[in-house]
Amino acid sequence: MKEKTLSIIKPDAVAKGAIGQIIDCFTENGLKIAALKMIHMSQREAEGFYAVHKERPFFGSLTEFMISGPAVVMVLCGENAIKKNRELMGATNPAEAAEGTLRKRFATDIEKNAVHGSDAPETARTEISYFFPELEIVNA
Ligand code: ADP
Ligand code: MG
Repeated sequence: MKEKTLSIIKPDAVAKGAIGQIIDCFTENGLKIAALKMIHMSQREAEGFYAVHKERPFFGSLTEFMISGPAVVMVLCGENAIKKNRELMGATNPAEAAEGTLRKRFATDIEKNAVHGSDAPETARTEISYFFPELEIVNA
């Protein structure tokens, strides 16, 4: 099934100069880019995006990290894009991420873990519309 998912190249990976390699990984694995922009999130934007985690002990530190520098937000599109993106990303904790995954290659630690990917169709829809109006998404 053709799907869309939200991907973020987080500030740590942008700072490491890994934008190109991460995008290559997506496109070499059959995902297409339907929208892409570089943003520097405000505190409010980061807190809104991660609102589901607001009761977690790491929420303050996570949102601080997400506003620490620019990030790249993208809509990826393709067959089973949500699951495929999560597989390419690897486990949340890079220490547990499989060899060759983006988090194994580029993450610093469980918080500064290089990339975000939506985890289900409903979250993909809300997360995409959080950053992109319909007009900014092409038919990839
Ligand atoms: P994922 O991004 O793999 O879906 P979660 O939704 O559980 O993972 O968490 C969202 C983000 O919060 C993670 O990508 C990571 O940046 C951060 N995070 C998750 N767990 C921790 C933790 N134990 N300590 C610090 N940061 C964490
Ligand atoms: Mg998640």
